Amino acid sequence: MTSKRLVLIGGGHAHLGVLDTLARTRPAGPEVVIVSPGRWQYYSGMLPGWMMGQYDLRACRIDLDAVTARAGVRLVDDTAVALDAARRRVMLGSGAEVDYDVLSLDVGSETDVSALAGAGAQLLPVKPLGEFTQRWRSLGAPARGAELARLVVVGGGAGGVEMAIAAACVFSATHASTRVTLVAGAEGVLPDHSAPVRRMALRALSRAAIEVLARRAVGTQGGLVLDSGKFIPAEIVIAASGARAAGWLRSSGLELDEGGFVAVNAFHQSLSHPEVFAAGDVCTRADRSVSRSGVHAVKTGPVLAHNVLAALRGGELQPYTPRPWSLYLLVSGPRSAIASWGPWAVEGAWVRRWKHRIDSRFVERFRAGAHRL
Ligand SMILES: Cc1cc2nc3c(=O)[nH]c(=O)nc-3n(C[C@H](O)[C@H](O)[C@H](O)COP(=O)(O)OP(=O)(O)OC[C@H]3O[C@@H](n4cnc5c(N)ncnc54)[C@H](O)[C@@H]3O)c2cc1C
Repeated sequence: MTSKRLVLIGGGHAHLGVLDTLARTRPAGPEVVIVSPGRWQYYSGMLPGWMMGQYDLRACRIDLDAVTARAGVRLVDDTAVALDAARRRVMLGSGAEVDYDVLSLDVGSETDVSALAGAGAQLLPVKPLGEFTQRWRSLGAPARGAELARLVVVGGGAGGVEMAIAAACVFSATHASTRVTLVAGAEGVLPDHSAPVRRMALRALSRAAIEVLARRAVGTQGGLVLDSGKFIPAEIVIAASGARAAGWLRSSGLELDEGGFVAVNAFHQSLSHPEVFAAGDVCTRADRSVSRSGVHAVKTGPVLAHNVLAALRGGELQPYTPRPWSLYLLVSGPRSAIASWGPWAVEGAWVRRWKHRIDSRFVERFRAGAHRL
């Protein structure tokens, strides 16, 4: 009898949890394949610190080559470009095809740049993170600060606030004349967080001399046009402007939500195809609202691991039940961070040290020899 095949698409936070379980349990039977474009999985939590020169890039990424080797999983260096859920087949960028018995998707989301494309070569989407790091360096952004009149970050969520603060910290040290503007959208800064967190974030942005505009923006040659009609010139526009689902899911046959994200139940199982699972930013829970965040993607990992193996063996599935509040630690300055937990908020240098410990421990867990979450 041929063994069953589990195919994981994407090496995102939830799939790291699946790989961790496989490394610890080494289940006999299934062949497990993971498809990922390259061996590095970048950790977004450490990106602001990297921009500020506090981390080497190598400290902010996980080596999927090593993690998959420990887990006994075959790493295919490729990108999924199409999925035929009816035929249980994934098409890859190289032209190869992979059939599966059980499929799990953890490909994250794309930065939604639809309104900003007019900014052309000045546009720097924060995702994919690997490309962002390369472009930030190749633009020579920090070094070029002296000739950089204005950098604009678009996006009022955690990513946008952290990017703006990191960029402003970089320039304030060397090129005080560079202006940093955050275009936060009509709802302003951190609309999904409590009022105290929003107040702390606004104070941190003000300390960093960042101009905050609660406006929508459209990209145009040389910068952005706000919904007020005002033109904002910018040499660099960092887009942290919300999540967009990968376009190739549209033709997959999977049930999607109105935004094109994979619709899943409490088991993170597709509503239309029970042999397909999805976790992290790529999915939307049909039974409850779960925010798109690294926190939830990480916490779904062990449940997802249980469920994909149960689906292969015919076992019972487990639900992922998020806690009412999640802890977010947001960079608010070169040496400070804000902790946000439901209505509770606190800021300080000790929060930043706490964030550093949590972030670096997460990445370290996947280094050679370690495979325990
Ligand atoms: C600057 C910044 C700061 C953030 N800060 C926080 C924070 O403080 N707390 C928090 O909870 N969240 C934060 N987030 C959000 C968090 O990064 C995401 O929610 C999280 O990364 C989602 O994880 P994921 O597992 O869904 O996907 P990802 O971590 O994005 O991983 C997806 C993986 O899939 C791969 N992939 C993509 N497409 C394909 C394909 N077609 N085929 C194969 N592989 C593919 C990618 O290469 C990537 O490795 C932040 C985001 C940014 C940008």
